[in-house]
Amino acid sequence: MKTIHTMSIKEWCRKYPLLEKIITYEEVLWLNPGSKNRVSQPAVGPGTQAIQDAADRLERFRPYIASVFPETRPDKGLIESPLRPIPAMQEALPEEAHLQTNGRFLLKCDNLLPISGSIKARGGIYEVLKHAEQIAISSNLLTPNDDYSILAEQKARAIFAEHSISVGSTGNLGLSIGIIGAELGFRVSVHMSADGRQWKKDLLRKHGVKVIEYNSDYSHAVAAGRKQAQQDPRCHFIDDEHSMDLFLGYAVAARRLQKQLTNLSIAVDSDHPLFVYLPCGVGGGPGGITYGLKQIFGSDVHCFFAEPTHSPCMLLGLYTGLHDKVSVRDFGLDNITGADGLAVGRPSSFIAKLMESLVDGIFTVDDRELYRLLALLANTEGIQMEPSALAGMAGMTRIIASSACQNHTGLNTSHTAATHIIWGTGGSMVPQKEMAEYYQRGSKLQKQHNKTC
Ligand SMILES: *Cc1c(COP(=O)(O)O)cnc(C)c1O
Repeated sequence: MKTIHTMSIKEWCRKYPLLEKIITYEEVLWLNPGSKNRVSQPAVGPGTQAIQDAADRLERFRPYIASVFPETRPDKGLIESPLRPIPAMQEALPEEAHLQTNGRFLLKCDNLLPISGSIKARGGIYEVLKHAEQIAISSNLLTPNDDYSILAEQKARAIFAEHSISVGSTGNLGLSIGIIGAELGFRVSVHMSADGRQWKKDLLRKHGVKVIEYNSDYSHAVAAGRKQAQQDPRCHFIDDEHSMDLFLGYAVAARRLQKQLTNLSIAVDSDHPLFVYLPCGVGGGPGGITYGLKQIFGSDVHCFFAEPTHSPCMLLGLYTGLHDKVSVRDFGLDNITGADGLAVGRPSSFIAKLMESLVDGIFTVDDRELYRLLALLANTEGIQMEPSALAGMAGMTRIIASSACQNHTGLNTSHTAATHIIWGTGGSMVPQKEMAEYYQRGSKLQKQHNKTC
């Protein structure tokens, strides 16, 4: 009989009852017992100073970013996205869920992040910039007090051309690293898993990036990339499963968000809790943002991760306590989802460890719901996102309505003056033809949904 860490699937299900539903691809909501009695600030992790350093580094790079990516000039080289109300969605979603809520819904539009149009423009670009800075400083090309736009000069590009960068990706991370890496002058290789979309490969090749394709999933692409990079001392491997720099790049988003909330005169305190819904793949993006938010808002912020029913890797890892020692395939799940950014079978070990006491819960979402909400968001708000980016939206009303969740957070979720932020993680780079297909698929599902309601 097949066993996972000496227990059969049946035994696992007896010990962890939610597994019955998880292994049959049913949507579930898991509330993390580890977060329940948490003191206000995270006691583990890199700490606030490390996030401050990352934020300072991104500041130093603003003149460079503004000089090579004209679309960032209005914001003087800041890579940030809008936080906006979604009034029509705010009406539509509670109505279809037969729910009344006093909360306010906001959408964090990382689909509009400059340069690569997804959340990966935070972590991925940050790590490449940090690497470039180190090389430039040790080559006596730069000091931290200089104007970093000199990195756009031929002299700097020639130095970077002697170095390479490599990454394993389902697509968006490769896109971020490929675009910024190639712009700086690095030789970049992207090891792409089978779910990687053709248009992403084409776009990368257009930027002069070497794309290596695999027939297997994300974990294999990462492993293959890591192995190849080890043979070249001048190659920096960006390790989505283990990188602290990626994590810190994502974590900076939290203080930027705090500023945006202040600008909108939105309070976050015990009477005005903040709920954040984050799509989760390997965990770095949502984990970094959660870590940063908990540093700032302590127990007044509640963070939930969203995963496809076919790829619930962080849920399986945290729920069973096996972290990266379990893959969704071990439990018979296929890891096949239209949410390509979330098609990950095994979570990052260090993120899983950190999230043990920080993430408030994880819910899973059927792919059909991602497409349906994609169409609904386009219809109601005129906003286009990719399927992965809708995962957070899909669980919000489930959480607001959940009495178990109210017990868990100690809040009457639907009545308190809560702010709910849906992290929309990507989409603006998706070609129109591709987007039209997503939309058509979603529209059909939305029509069926309206009929059955
Ligand atoms: C990568 C990605 C995520 C999740 O980030 P992880 O760091 O892999 O957890 C979510 N949405 C989109 C669109 C992504 O590309």
